[in-house]
Amino acid sequence: MILLDMSDRQIISWKPAVFRIFCAVLILCVTGAWLLWSRDDDLTEQYSIQIVEPTCTENGYSLYTHIETGEVTVRDVVAAKGHTFDPWVLIAVGDEVNCGFSKRVCEVCGHEETRAEYPNLPISRISLYGSLDGIGKKAEVSMTACLELAEDDISLECYATLKYQGHISLSYNKKNFTLKLYNDKDHQKKNKLKLSHWNEENKYILKANYVDASQCRNLVCADVWADMCAARPLLPKELHTLSNYGAVDGYPVAIYLNDRFYGLFTMNLHKDDDLFAMKEGAQHAIMICNHGSMPEATFHAEAEFTENSPWEVEYCGTKDDAWAKDSFNELIRFVRISDDATFRKELSAYLDVDAAIDYLIALYALGLTNHTDQDLVLVNYGDVWIPSLYDMETAFGLAEGGSDLHDPTVFLPTRDGDGWNSDTGHLLWDRLLQNFGDEICARYQILRTQILDPQTLCNRVTAFTDRIPSVIYEEEEEINPHPQSYGESKAQILNYIPGRIEALDKIFLKGLN
Ligand SMILES: [Zn+2]
Repeated sequence: MILLDMSDRQIISWKPAVFRIFCAVLILCVTGAWLLWSRDDDLTEQYSIQIVEPTCTENGYSLYTHIETGEVTVRDVVAAKGHTFDPWVLIAVGDEVNCGFSKRVCEVCGHEETRAEYPNLPISRISLYGSLDGIGKKAEVSMTACLELAEDDISLECYATLKYQGHISLSYNKKNFTLKLYNDKDHQKKNKLKLSHWNEENKYILKANYVDASQCRNLVCADVWADMCAARPLLPKELHTLSNYGAVDGYPVAIYLNDRFYGLFTMNLHKDDDLFAMKEGAQHAIMICNHGSMPEATFHAEAEFTENSPWEVEYCGTKDDAWAKDSFNELIRFVRISDDATFRKELSAYLDVDAAIDYLIALYALGLTNHTDQDLVLVNYGDVWIPSLYDMETAFGLAEGGSDLHDPTVFLPTRDGDGWNSDTGHLLWDRLLQNFGDEICARYQILRTQILDPQTLCNRVTAFTDRIPSVIYEEEEEINPHPQSYGESKAQILNYIPGRIEALDKIFLKGLN
């Protein structure tokens, strides 16, 4: 009973408490609602309110202007609605090379958008967006890039820079470019691509191949050189691991600028420390002979490395490049002053003789007439200098500039009695031929069976040019006239090669007897 009494008393005392809380909440709600109502009532009394509806691109909002003070407040922002487009309509029909264009219109505001309809190209394409105004050899311009690299099944958009590249080619109507790819618009983060079997790179050459309408010479010869390196029994270990034995590599690519076909180029690896896998801090160096026929270029004088000197240290792994310059001039000095017996015996202390023999054979076989006093690349991994073939745009009998042609029988070594003449005017090649004539003939005979077989060489040329549809070549000729037509260029190469090898056979195969 007592317990029941207690319970009753608790129930009796509990009920009023709930009631009081309920009343308090009710009062608060009513007061709040009244306050809000009176506030809005105040606002409408104190402000003039202008409601701005959202459009496709602009937010909507309410504009409160205080009646007394004129103070303006923006409230009740509503997000822009976005365009409501009609379907795309084709407004300009493209063709196999040029883009068509489509348009779509917003049914609300009439805003128009156009887009390019790219043709399905069988070769890779790079579309660049931006202006070339102000571009130079040292002046980069910023671009955005869209890459559709068929060879590597890569499709991507990124930021890019473009600048001119080259020496003599800078005077041509169609110029080479250096293309660098980035992930950010400030060009701080390199966008390195893993293309083909090449090392990861964000920097490529877009080679115009102005003097070579077929566009095949440089890359076909680079592949021939790579095969010659691969077939060399004593290849330096540093070259074994390179993607193309230090030769450049690349593939044809159609370039579009702001959705207009800009030309047929080849996208090539850049000749730099990466191509030769050289390491910063190591005694690694690349020496290059730029255009020039002064005695230095042909080893008739030591390299001065001045502004007018043809020789340039293209790369040096160490801050101080004195060792590379000294080492290089030791080679020239040795070639200039050693007697024949010493030359034969000790040349390998300065130069990779096997590479030099291959280099000279390549000059003859590929008809690299312009390489006698320029474009020689020598690399050094802290030991001897290793010749490497580069820039073969004028191979197969093209004269500088691309307008004139050499007959296959022009630029051949000769043998008078027991003495050889390299017909290069280059002291190193003259002396190499005079002192290693038998080795050169023997090596030629080996290379001649396969790599330098004329049909094999011609097949490489047609395999390259057949990748590029004739409509692209034709459009290229329309936009960027070359000294020759594509058809003339290809026919001339296919005619030159058998004539060239036949002429060399008479000299080097005969030399064995
Ligand atoms: Zn709209």
